[in-house]
Amino acid sequence: MSTSSNAQVSVPAQRLLGKVALVTGGASGIGESVTRLFHIHGAKVCIADLQDNLAKQLSESLGGEANVCFYHCDVTLEDDVRGAVDFAVEKFGTLDIIVNNAGISGSPCPDIRDATLSEFDKVFNINVKGVFHGMKHAARIMIPNKKGSIISLASVASTTGGIGIHAYTGSKHAVVGLTKSVAAELGKHGIRANCVSPYAVLTGLALAHLPEDERNDDAVAGFRDFVALNANLQGVELTTVDVANAVLFLASDESRYISGDNLMIDGGFTSVNHSLRVFR
Ligand code: NAD
Repeated sequence: MSTSSNAQVSVPAQRLLGKVALVTGGASGIGESVTRLFHIHGAKVCIADLQDNLAKQLSESLGGEANVCFYHCDVTLEDDVRGAVDFAVEKFGTLDIIVNNAGISGSPCPDIRDATLSEFDKVFNINVKGVFHGMKHAARIMIPNKKGSIISLASVASTTGGIGIHAYTGSKHAVVGLTKSVAAELGKHGIRANCVSPYAVLTGLALAHLPEDERNDDAVAGFRDFVALNANLQGVELTTVDVANAVLFLASDESRYISGDNLMIDGGFTSVNHSLRVFR
């Protein structure tokens, strides 16, 4: 008798062969690593980003438009996201995976009395509304197909205060809420929704709060020291590829029964106590 426990275990070399993915913010940082890794694993990828030149260069470096195409997209605008999804479908025939990755950290503001609503709106428009747009328009294609994987970038700030500015922390909590809500609605269609929550990674976002002329080697070294000092897991630096590997897992059939989850990629950072430090 064949039972579910007898299901064959096989991990294909190319874990996304034949799949089509859209990656918002896929031209640089974590999104670039996701684009590259998805391509290595056989997916056709559409990058939806504001940075045309970077996206074009990345597409060319991965064999051109036949493998990785590009659509100029501001995720805060529903028409742009609708257009990006339709472009991916037109180009590659369908949409199996969306990675709602585009996000910003917002400008540092240590005193809530100085916080502005315009900055708050800016962060929420990209980090929350942008994710919602991606979920909505991916679902439009995935529901008739009765399958799909929606993955959104949250952060350690999705569970813990005091890591980002208020708007960022609120926005990343909202990404988890949206993920659970969408997983609840779309489960009946065979569609999964999850998010991933990385600890700090050295990308443009990590240094974005600094004026451009201060984003130098000293700033990078300072960021690395600060991140290492406050990390739980020692001797390992979190990279964009580590995050991309987690996204790949949630995109692939290896995670086929995982939905509504927030996968922490934080070396235990949000699970341990940082104030008593009895083990240090
Ligand atoms: P990044 O700044 O290096 O890259 C972000 C990408 O998104 C860029 O290509 C940018 O052009 C694009 N983008 C920005 N606004 C956009 C918009 N309105 N429409 C379309 N594209 C837009 O950032 P990153 O560090 O790679 O961050 C990616 C995601 O990971 C974000 O959601 C971020 O909050 C999350 N994250 C990052 C870290 C970290 O330490 N870097 C940690 C946890 C979570």
